[in-house]
Amino acid sequence: MRQALAGQGASRGIALGRARLRIAHAADTREQVIEHAQVEAEVARLHCALDAARGELNALRERLHGALAHELGEFLDIHALILDDPELLNGLDVLVRTGHYGAEYALKLQRDKLVAVFEGMDDPYFRSRREDIEHVVGRVRAALHRGTGEAPAGIAGEILVAESVGPAELAQLQARGVTAIVTAGGSTLSHTAILARSLHMPLVVSAHEALAQIDEGAALMVDGSSGEVICEPDAGDLRRFRVRRQELARERRGLQKLRRAETRTRDGVEIRLYANAESRQDVAQAHALGAAGIGLYRTEFLFLQRNQLPDEEEQFRAYRDLVLGMTGRPATIRTLDLGADKADGAGVALASEPNPALGLRGVRLSLARLPLFATQLRAILRASGYGSLRILVPMVSCREEMVAVRALIAELARELRTEGHEIADQFEIGAMIEVPAAALALAGLADQLDFISIGTNDLMQYTLAADRGNDAIAGLYSPLHPAFVRLLREVIAVGGKHDLPVAVCGEMAGDARYTRLLLALGLTDFSLHPSTLLEVRQAVRESDLQALRRRARSLLRAKDRAQIERWMAWSKGEGKDREPVAGSR
Ligand code: PEP
Ligand code: MG
Repeated sequence: MRQALAGQGASRGIALGRARLRIAHAADTREQVIEHAQVEAEVARLHCALDAARGELNALRERLHGALAHELGEFLDIHALILDDPELLNGLDVLVRTGHYGAEYALKLQRDKLVAVFEGMDDPYFRSRREDIEHVVGRVRAALHRGTGEAPAGIAGEILVAESVGPAELAQLQARGVTAIVTAGGSTLSHTAILARSLHMPLVVSAHEALAQIDEGAALMVDGSSGEVICEPDAGDLRRFRVRRQELARERRGLQKLRRAETRTRDGVEIRLYANAESRQDVAQAHALGAAGIGLYRTEFLFLQRNQLPDEEEQFRAYRDLVLGMTGRPATIRTLDLGADKADGAGVALASEPNPALGLRGVRLSLARLPLFATQLRAILRASGYGSLRILVPMVSCREEMVAVRALIAELARELRTEGHEIADQFEIGAMIEVPAAALALAGLADQLDFISIGTNDLMQYTLAADRGNDAIAGLYSPLHPAFVRLLREVIAVGGKHDLPVAVCGEMAGDARYTRLLLALGLTDFSLHPSTLLEVRQAVRESDLQALRRRARSLLRAKDRAQIERWMAWSKGEGKDREPVAGSR
């Protein structure tokens, strides 16, 4: 019988398929005891599954590049560490060898024990790591099931229905041909959701009734925009599905036509779309789509997932190749943004801090480790001899930091010239504006800057006191808070007053839903992942800049998110209807 369930659309796209349910632990709750003679074979089966899980993680890492690798790297590291954790492994062996439990049941017992440890921790960050244990155990369990001939959760043409799905699983599910995912929990701003959007995998989250109401094998229709999930759709639903699918295919074809198009508003103003890049593939894609340059090159990936620091030569080659790859268009290289939340294997960042987001991170860490910072800057300066290069400094909170960075760059440039290196005559040096203090004190910082790039991902978390990685408060972590919109406007305006080019390089810049809002606030430079460039170009081309700017005042007068959302809905029509906020009290 037809049934409609409501969730939240987290990744656009529609899908029709049979439901594949994944109900956590249902199969493993029964106690499972084995004979003494089976023990070694069971241990071997268990280790085979652990190896398979490790192999899957490795294969996944090799397939990922660029932003996906960046998004997933942290999860893959944590999952790999859990899989090699001696406590987990010894515990499992003891349970099978001494307790004579079957592998699945031993896995369940170990999972319960570890989850209890994490749940008992005071720190919400560590408590939230419980989810990682669940995902790792789920991966090993799936490998055990595969070994016994059971079908994996989610096969070609099916729609996976689960309590939650880990980011590391997504790419695999897609490779297996799963066409959409519905989760009972989760949020639209989780890493899983961000990643689903990059992979173009339709995803509906927070469909609370999904596991209770959907039967295994039921026909499902899923709309990742509206969050609608229809179980056993009727003829009318199927008609709607076909129409929607044609619309989406048309949209996609339309976007492809924009590959070589100009990025100009309807009233003829050129908007610059730069790319956020981390790999050669990103650089090549940025080029193919006509990006204005690289607006953010995150250098952390050279330092993560390894035990030794990259030396000057290795870094120089990476930066030089980036500059050469852009054939004259500017490449903006961000200096190291490590911290205890993105700790490197070589131990540059502190292994742990009480509050990593507020700790020794970004330029603070670089200035505290001067030899390391000097090595990176020397490599960047040497690459400047090969093309247009700009230096971007992350996590700046005060003028003194920029004064120190500029002095160091000047000294290193002198040193390199004396050594006979061919480097640029001048360098543009900019700051990421992602700490509210820097945003509010920008006028005083301006003489130390040649350009700025607003890191909305961090600026939002610090302005709204909402941890960007915490799903529990994901609803608060939104750019649509009036305070945040006003702060953005302030930074763009002060930057303009001091003749500083201003870009936004956080996720917000790559989300076409916010393009008009940013244009209304005065933004002309966007830096975004190449996978979203065409959508934003289309939104720019459909916008009337003068009309949007005329209405900026009413946007800045908004009192709450609902009023900003109404302004956004209205801005798509750009002024045909009455202004939504201006007259409201
Ligand atoms: C940001 O904070 O918006 C940003 C682009 O930097 P990252 O996401 O690397 O912290
Ligand atoms: Mg940041």
